Amino acid sequence: MSDTVTLSLAEATDLSTAALTANGADGENASAVTDIMMRAERDRCASHGLFRLPGYCASLKSGKVKGDARPVASEIAPGAVRVDGQGGFAPLALEVGLPVLAQKAKTQGIAGMGLVNIYHFAALWPEVETLAEQGLCAFAFTQASPMVAPAGGIKPFFGTNPMAFAWPRPGQNPYVFDQASAAMARGDVMIHARDGHPVPLGTGIDEDGNPTTDPNEVLKGAQSPFGGYKGSNIALMVELLAGGLIGSVFSPEAGRLDNKDGGPPVGGEFLMAIDPAHFGDAAHWAQHCETLFSELTAMEGVRLPGERRRKARLETPTSGIVLPRSLLEKINGLM
Ligand code: NDP
Repeated sequence: MSDTVTLSLAEATDLSTAALTANGADGENASAVTDIMMRAERDRCASHGLFRLPGYCASLKSGKVKGDARPVASEIAPGAVRVDGQGGFAPLALEVGLPVLAQKAKTQGIAGMGLVNIYHFAALWPEVETLAEQGLCAFAFTQASPMVAPAGGIKPFFGTNPMAFAWPRPGQNPYVFDQASAAMARGDVMIHARDGHPVPLGTGIDEDGNPTTDPNEVLKGAQSPFGGYKGSNIALMVELLAGGLIGSVFSPEAGRLDNKDGGPPVGGEFLMAIDPAHFGDAAHWAQHCETLFSELTAMEGVRLPGERRRKARLETPTSGIVLPRSLLEKINGLM
């Protein structure tokens, strides 16, 4: 028997919805969380697809996350939106907040949004891509729980603290990057451990602070920031934006509050949206930026971030998605 299974996106959607519902999510929350995982599966981002479903279900089951949360958006200043996730998962809070943020940025040129009282377990590119498809430049940041040792330290302190950026390209797919400030996203370290593969040197350190390629030792010790002190500085910036600025928690605080059920810690997310039509050269900005993209991609070996995902997106509706059989069995066991 093969140790992988292929599912259609529709089958994967039904599976996710059934598991979340069986563990206490109502229709709206199950739909929003499933949608965010399916966007990851569709783009072959395995670490944020169905791989996350057992964690989502564990947090519903333990009662840490509310499966019937109804996030509330409020306009706290002309350019500032706050969404209280009411103790639910981030995807529904984003569905509620993104249209408000986009409308404010379109009207005023720039707007920011803080999501608080949420549990974030997802990739960030879906939200910035959604904003860029509406003609906006967008940033997103979220913290997590302590997993990454700061430059010079050997104990976990920062979350893997991703940041995502998207730039609108009228008539074309937006430019989107989304990356952890850790050398490797936590989910990918876990997948390496599950599959028995070593991680590249520089991914993390063992409990005594020694560099290691064993993902299990990294999970017990600490992950490393990407690019040494530079990634460490970005991780701190993300803590300040997604924790300090919007009145949420920092990763060390989230770690202390967490019940360790395997799901996401409580946290926040900060997003900023800017309408390029309100800054500088309203008539020519898009065309001007295209000259930069063209000159860059004309160079041999260079590709834009997001291209791998976009290619996968065209393929998975017919190829389906491939899951480890062990993951499918685990998910079936959740119901
Ligand atoms: P990767 O290192 O896999 O990729 C980072 C970015 O670089 C992607 O946009 C990718 O685009 C791009 N890229 C990859 N190769 C190239 C290349 N050769 N040239 C140009 N661009 C390239 O991501 P990470 O492992 O750092 O993060 C993975 C995910 O984990 C992110 O989506 C992040 O949001 C998520 N995450 C979520 C957390 C949470 O708490 N919610 C915590 C930490 C991470 P492409 O996709 O096209 O390859």
